[in-house]
Amino acid sequence: MAVEQLAGLSLIEGVATKGGGATFSGYNPTDGNALEPFYTSASVTDVEHAVAAAVKAAEFLAASSGADRARLLRAFADGLDAAAESLIERAMLETALTRPRLTGEVARTSGQLRLFARVAEEGAWLNARIDMADPSRTPPKPDVRSVLRPLGPVVVFGASNFPLAFSVAGGDTASALAAGNPVIVKAHPAHPGTGELVGHIVNAAVAREGFPAGTFALLFDAGYEVGAALVQHPEIKAVGFTGSFRGGRALMDLAAKREVPIPVYAEMGSTNPVFVLPKALAERSAALAADLQASFTLGGGQFCTKPGMVFVEEQHGRAFVETLRSKVAAGGAFSLLTAGIAKQFEHELAERRSLAKTLGAERGEGHAAQSVLFEVSAEKFFEDKRLSEEVFGPTTLLVQCDSKEQMMAAARGLEGHLTATILGTPEDLAEHAELIRILEQKAGRVIFNAFPTGVEVNHAMVHGGPYPATSDGRSTSVGSLAILRFARPVAFQGMPQFALPPELQDANPRKVPQLRDGVLAI
Ligand code: NAP
Repeated sequence: MAVEQLAGLSLIEGVATKGGGATFSGYNPTDGNALEPFYTSASVTDVEHAVAAAVKAAEFLAASSGADRARLLRAFADGLDAAAESLIERAMLETALTRPRLTGEVARTSGQLRLFARVAEEGAWLNARIDMADPSRTPPKPDVRSVLRPLGPVVVFGASNFPLAFSVAGGDTASALAAGNPVIVKAHPAHPGTGELVGHIVNAAVAREGFPAGTFALLFDAGYEVGAALVQHPEIKAVGFTGSFRGGRALMDLAAKREVPIPVYAEMGSTNPVFVLPKALAERSAALAADLQASFTLGGGQFCTKPGMVFVEEQHGRAFVETLRSKVAAGGAFSLLTAGIAKQFEHELAERRSLAKTLGAERGEGHAAQSVLFEVSAEKFFEDKRLSEEVFGPTTLLVQCDSKEQMMAAARGLEGHLTATILGTPEDLAEHAELIRILEQKAGRVIFNAFPTGVEVNHAMVHGGPYPATSDGRSTSVGSLAILRFARPVAFQGMPQFALPPELQDANPRKVPQLRDGVLAI
């Protein structure tokens, strides 16, 4: 589909649907001008329609094989790759993210769809377990078999800062569909055109691969009504969310107040603490400062993994701080994603200026922001919780500790984060061994000698972490483990072979790994 054909309408049961609510448009963040077309918000009737179609599709998907769903996910991926140029062009207009960044994001999005295709096909994630009957035992031992089954219709909310990888056909959509759930996406209003283009690619693949039209829907909304109605709908079984703490928490509360509460997997903001240890500072303070500056300003500092607080022992960190300060002072301006984010950044910088010392540059013009470096003593940091909160944009906070003990106290006092980073030498690490034990309690990913921006999509990745970084620290939204969020175990006892899910039958027609009487077999 060409950009000129964008219609500004929600996609329900494979069809562009008129909607009925307020209109809105995307904006070009570089000049603040509205971008055509105008989008019509979905109505409450549209929500009912999309959910009813998803309920119809759920049975088909639950019965489908992993190989069938793999075909579907690969068709999405091929469609995204084929349309890469128009996706990149439109996303550049709507987000001001750069061409190289968006080129990488298309590849990452199709790559993660293909990863989930392989996972669905291979079937180990299903955790198929078979415990055979033993009628001679007293009492007789029953035949019990269990497997992970899909939940039913899932709602996905994407984030503004990843118009592809955490959006319409992003990680949550890929993992929920790979597990066999229909998906209804609430489009992010900051990149509606990119969302609509992807929505058409997904719809075309759903139709071509013979899946029911209710497998996928995309709903637009100028406000929160549609998202709230979806989360509260009794037929919705789970929610995947990527975005702000405020948004994620609001959806968690709505879901918890339902007559039948449902899980909300919300990946929210994070400040991503970094601990810079003395021997590394002595060996390579200039390189560490340059890499830190590159990391906290990457993408205009609009990454959930941005290093937002950096702990240094004051006596060892003088050269490091000085280099960092000069790097920041020489830095350019960054376009922020939306006027809302620019305004919020300005507001939070003003607050931070009142709480900490400013070491770096000031605010840029229009929606452009210059990076700002703040500094505070550990005592002050301990006193005011606002200093440990995320500021979304190109800024970071140096926390000056007077001793190793004070640094460890800061680590112990941390809330949950997506990542925690240690920069040090092996000797540093041996001398601060307790830091790793502390940080594994605080973060989803503990990193040694690298920066947290950039999340590899693979089988081992954990992009999660304890609350408030996420709503459920036992899960991840990136990597193949993410599939487990959208399934639940069901045991079948005494069931005849023909009535079992194929993955639990002795003939194992779908050839998935089975744990038979505790022994892994294929
Ligand atoms: P956002 O403002 O929370 O928006 C996310 C989505 O949720 C949007 O569709 C938004 O609609 C909707 N929403 C927000 N509040 C809502 C509410 N009360 N009720 C119903 N729907 C609601 O987040 P964002 O600005 O897109 O992204 C920036 C934030 O996301 C940062 O904090 C960043 O750290 C975080 N983030 C986290 C990750 C991660 O993996 N953990 C990744 C990327 C970004 P509206 O736009 O209409 O408000």
